[in-house]
Amino acid sequence: MKTHDADFIIVGSGPAGVSAAFPLIAAGRRVLMLDAGNDARSRDESRSARVLGSNLESLRADDGSSPKLQTPVARGILERFRRESGITGEGFMPVASLARGGLSNIWGAQISYLDAEDILGWPIDIDLLQRSYERISQRIGISTNADLTAEADRGSVLPLGAAAAHVLHRHKAAKPADGSFRLFPAINAILSEARPGRAACDLRGDCLYGCPSGAIYNSRQDLLALQKPPHFRLLDNVRAISLASNAGWTIGTADGSSFSAPRIILAAGVLGTAALLADLLPIGGEGLRLLNSPTLAIPLLSPARLLRSATATHSLAQLGLSLRYGERASDYVMGAIYEVGSLPTQSFVNRMPLGRKAGRAAFEMIAGSLLVATIYYPGDQSRSYIHREVTGKGMTVRGGFADGFDIRAKDLKRRLRREWQRLGLIPLPGASLAEPGIDAHFAGTLPMGAAGPFGTSVDGELNLHPGLHVVDGSILPELSSKYITMTIMANADRIAHRLAEMEANPAL
Ligand SMILES: Cc1cc2nc3c(=O)[nH]c(=O)nc-3n(C[C@H](O)[C@H](O)[C@H](O)COP(=O)(O)OP(=O)(O)OC[C@H]3O[C@@H](n4cnc5c(N)ncnc54)[C@H](O)[C@@H]3O)c2cc1C
Repeated sequence: MKTHDADFIIVGSGPAGVSAAFPLIAAGRRVLMLDAGNDARSRDESRSARVLGSNLESLRADDGSSPKLQTPVARGILERFRRESGITGEGFMPVASLARGGLSNIWGAQISYLDAEDILGWPIDIDLLQRSYERISQRIGISTNADLTAEADRGSVLPLGAAAAHVLHRHKAAKPADGSFRLFPAINAILSEARPGRAACDLRGDCLYGCPSGAIYNSRQDLLALQKPPHFRLLDNVRAISLASNAGWTIGTADGSSFSAPRIILAAGVLGTAALLADLLPIGGEGLRLLNSPTLAIPLLSPARLLRSATATHSLAQLGLSLRYGERASDYVMGAIYEVGSLPTQSFVNRMPLGRKAGRAAFEMIAGSLLVATIYYPGDQSRSYIHREVTGKGMTVRGGFADGFDIRAKDLKRRLRREWQRLGLIPLPGASLAEPGIDAHFAGTLPMGAAGPFGTSVDGELNLHPGLHVVDGSILPELSSKYITMTIMANADRIAHRLAEMEANPAL
């Protein structure tokens, strides 16, 4: 009989996969990580190739999605997933990856932490999750944006852009008394001080096109540390396509090879994991519910900043915000405010109700005073489902919104208008509700604590399939409007600690 290739096989080298690997490696377990991607993206690629693409992909027409999804790296990642995963979308953009480092190659790096109220009803302990948050924060490096002209220099801070600082001052001067609207400096996984192998943020502001200095966290960076001990192995260009239980689990791959281990850990991203489990899950006609965050983007003008130049800073989120819209604890939206001075002109020009030439001239004049707010709703406002194709092995995600969402969205826009006015901001034409999927905040397909064939245990073990664990967003039972990746990583870390202990003490 073939001996196992490792104690654990992890599928995926994104934020979830590497977070599960560290505790297992620290406990001396043999880990084999399989990833469909490779190390093709070289660190010293020229800036023009990063911005324009090696085939000038960036000069293609704007497809209306977020500027971040239109960069050459993002297009390459999304197109490969569409080509090879067998997952398509109807009214849903399947934003997912078959790339080393997963979606952390193109993420916005904004961080949120769930609190006890957010996980009420989840089968996990907030203290354990918080310990995992701390471990992950230390590993990846977190900075807060601060107005360095006004505040004492403290710890890991990066300068807040001038337009964002202006808005924050106005907010502090007249906060709504009921606390229903909050505005605060964003917390991002960006280094303000260099670490081995990663430079501090150079404030050049071209973050959208990848970060060659490594200041923005990307889970590829973790692979360097993981690969040091001999009991960790990473196999690139290996796309898992099947799972079979046979004295443990055997993974079949697209190139015909197979790998086995007593336990498998799926960290392929919510859509990638669903594709891998297609044959094990009895998905019926109603489809498999997927939680995603309906997302609204609102361009804003700060007249007080007109004709003033922008300050040097990164071009990721400057400010975070939240606004309550209902009575339940989860009835709040979260979001971010970006300065657009360093974002690609084209996306904004295309959205302006002017001709191209006039649009470009207008944009250049007002760039330093332009901001964009991105607002995320909680997952219960989405109605998206993954369906199996009737013929063939493919899957289709059908996107949708909860009943009455349009009325709630209209009401929210009205309430936000009041806040913009208080902050001295003018909402510009061009606000848009993104196609479901563009948010890339996915959860809830295989919730922890749920009974039945789609549920998982507190260790992410799929019901009815002992030894098959999932550690990505699939197992989060709910999707709040907070940024999700930090929680995916912390939960993967928590589960891997449990599994490492369990292997040492099978009585657990
Ligand atoms: C434009 C954009 C901006 C974002 N901004 C933020 C943000 O500001 N804050 C935030 O919290 N989140 C953000 N996100 C979301 C964040 O990127 C994801 O939540 C996170 O990457 C999920 O991590 P993961 O490891 O679960 O999955 P992924 O990052 O998708 O990684 C999946 C891994 O699995 C591998 N894989 C998949 N299928 C297979 C297979 N069959 N065989 C082998 N390997 C496979 C892939 O190659 C990849 O390595 C953003 C996403 C996008 C696209």
